[in-house]
Amino acid sequence: MEHGMVIIGAGECGTRAAFALRENGYEGPVTMIGTEPHLPYERPPLSKDAMVSDDHLLPRTIAGIEQFTEKRIDFIGSSTVAAIDRAVKAVTLHDGRSLPYDRLLIATGAMPRALPLAAGSKHCVTLRSYDDALRIRAGFGPAARIAIVGGGFIGLELAASARKRGASVTVIEAQPRILMRGVPEEIAGVIAARHRDEGVMLRCGTGIASINDKDDSVIITLADGEEIVADLAVIGIGAVPVTGLAEKAGLETANGIVVNDWLQTSDPDIYAAGDCCAFPLAICGGRRVRLEAWRNAQEQGALAARNMLGGHEPHESVPWFWSDQYELGLQVAGLADEATQTIRRDLGEGAFILFHLAADGRLVAASGIGPGNAVAKDIRLAEMLIARGARPASAQLEASDVKLKSLLAA
Ligand code: NAP
Repeated sequence: MEHGMVIIGAGECGTRAAFALRENGYEGPVTMIGTEPHLPYERPPLSKDAMVSDDHLLPRTIAGIEQFTEKRIDFIGSSTVAAIDRAVKAVTLHDGRSLPYDRLLIATGAMPRALPLAAGSKHCVTLRSYDDALRIRAGFGPAARIAIVGGGFIGLELAASARKRGASVTVIEAQPRILMRGVPEEIAGVIAARHRDEGVMLRCGTGIASINDKDDSVIITLADGEEIVADLAVIGIGAVPVTGLAEKAGLETANGIVVNDWLQTSDPDIYAAGDCCAFPLAICGGRRVRLEAWRNAQEQGALAARNMLGGHEPHESVPWFWSDQYELGLQVAGLADEATQTIRRDLGEGAFILFHLAADGRLVAASGIGPGNAVAKDIRLAEMLIARGARPASAQLEASDVKLKSLLAA
């Protein structure tokens, strides 16, 4: 008897996988389980539009209920999977229900890293879900004092949103500068300057000594004794993959659920994709990575679906992500950690791209920043060069009158 496909996790990745199963001709039962009560929704707006615009008071759903019905995808919301029983090939829900599967996809994503010092505070929150976003949004306003712990993507996007709503904002970052891991110093400098122009107070290179609630506020005492008093503190210090179920089921994990080229776990009937999985990245010579990015979740969801149906397609994409803060658009393609040389190309109106080359001359990453979409087209072309393993000459990358398209043709 056909039991069908079960997907644990109803985020971007799980939802994309469910629809991709149908797009690829699968006719059997498809069930997707999510912990939240809402229909699956887009997370990128949570730190941006959902904080500032009245149009986004409802979550921006990935698909409407009629699409789930039409595609016969059984979405079980407000539900948690308690265990995966690999011997009988079934998942058990917290209410005791058991759902058998032929193939299972784990797309459980990541959750905010906890800051132990903040554990006892009523005024410290994290952002992952739409409900978190509503709570944070309610705290933003002209008279509000907002502290943000962590100068990463969540922290800085929220800082920009809070300033747009008129709040006063202090960002506390443990590293010597913001976005230490995310982007090169030159780009982080542009972003930091823009935040300072908006009045955001940046405290970098500082530890936190204590966090204590006092009446209706929270006092964050920095290592040097400075006290930051806030009505709301958002903790954005990174995310950790949700791997508990996989570990309990005896699947191999190492900074994420370990999968092979086809996103298959150590159990051939179980796949994992998105933020929760550590996969071999083809364009980096099969080095195992874990990516926390919207497009990766989408692509891997669709890829997992095709492979669950018998495919053996590897994940060959170039990592890509973006961030919008104020009018600035930042985009990064590839992974820069192998790079030994950086070349800058100016695009005008303050926009520029940094090309990152490995010691053998391969273009391994490109990061760009500028107003709006100024860097989008060139980052897209850089991504294609990276995918091809191109070794463009430094002088050509630097000269803004040399079209990247011509390098691609070469
Ligand atoms: P993140 O980008 O990794 O940034 C967290 C920052 O906080 C890092 O610089 C980190 O430094 C720092 N930090 C760690 N511990 C700290 C401490 N005790 N005090 C002060 N700073 C500390 O993570 P995030 O901003 O929290 O984002 C979480 C998730 O949301 C990620 O999955 C991210 O990809 C996703 N997200 C993405 C976007 C986007 O792509 N545009 C936007 C929003 C959210 P270390 O590096 O030393 O740990």
